[in-house]
Amino acid sequence: MIPPGETIGILGGGQLGRMMAMAAAQMGYRVHIYAPEEDSVAAEVSAAFTCAPWDDAAAMRAFAATCAVVTYEFENVPAGPLAAIAPTPLLAHPRALETAQDRVSEKSFVQALGGRPAPFAVVDNRADLAAAMERIGTPGILKTRRDGYDGKGQWRIMAPADADAIDLPNVPLIYEGFVSFSGEFSVILVRGADGDIRFWDSAQNEHESGILALSTVPAPDALQAQVPAARDLARAIADKLDYVGVLAVEFFATSEGPVFNEMACRVHNSGHWTIEGAVTSQFENHIRAICGLPLGSTALAASKVEMRNIIGDGAQDWAAILSDPANHLHLYGKGTIRPGRKMGHVTRLTL
Ligand code: AMP
Repeated sequence: MIPPGETIGILGGGQLGRMMAMAAAQMGYRVHIYAPEEDSVAAEVSAAFTCAPWDDAAAMRAFAATCAVVTYEFENVPAGPLAAIAPTPLLAHPRALETAQDRVSEKSFVQALGGRPAPFAVVDNRADLAAAMERIGTPGILKTRRDGYDGKGQWRIMAPADADAIDLPNVPLIYEGFVSFSGEFSVILVRGADGDIRFWDSAQNEHESGILALSTVPAPDALQAQVPAARDLARAIADKLDYVGVLAVEFFATSEGPVFNEMACRVHNSGHWTIEGAVTSQFENHIRAICGLPLGSTALAASKVEMRNIIGDGAQDWAAILSDPANHLHLYGKGTIRPGRKMGHVTRLTL
């Protein structure tokens, strides 16, 4: 067990790290952030900050030497430099990170466990794309295999002619068949070092332009009916990876049951509602798990919870938001407003 008072290292300096650092601080831990960008909203609320590139092995080694355990809030941390963290433990295990970083490897991994992703094909050039559209059909979505998030690095192809207009980037790609879904939901679990697994309620997630806009708990009944099968897959993923910490798995609800979309080996935007809406938040349970502490209850703390993201300059009238006493405002302290940038969120509880 890593007792309160010790230092937890977090790779990545964004809002997920910020909320994790706040949960860690509540339990008396010190947090040391490692991130390449100077203006880190996680470092702002943490005890120490190393600002260095991901591939600076000496900086990574010096950072890890100050930490009792290291975790990550950013899933695209390159795997190679992580070797410099040893002998300090890195959780979740980097094997999980590597699997989830590549859309092809995560889908193949999930398929081997009996999960069902959208039909997909590897695309490295135009001929591959033509063959993929031929085999899988249109509509479909072309995505970068790595580094995509919030709908970035994605092209919707409604008909084969659309592909001609795409300026193919010189990176590995994947073509996915378009899934006709009735809703989207996520399974978020925490797994302790002893293998104990707890699930939070699954939120219904609504996206706008590929970015999560709204998470609602409880999800509608039709969607909840698909949760048990989705949980079985999420549990199999976590057990297979000997996972420690919070894992998020996103699904499409379809007439044939849950279709796997992607997984994130970290706390997740669709779990932000747990800060006020669950007995123990995803952030606190992640810290408990990586420190070898008993996990907290994941039970709902309200009859209904809605989490709405504040994106770009989408909402600015903080007083109006807070004039509803059921609302909780979270702002991430980001200085620059950009279209599509997650600036904060509002959680509304109905008791
Ligand atoms: P992703 O970054 O892969 O999670 O994609 C962002 C959003 O785009 C998803 O939450 C869906 O709303 C939509 N999307 C992605 N892939 C597909 C697909 N194969 N079929 C239908 N919608 C998709």
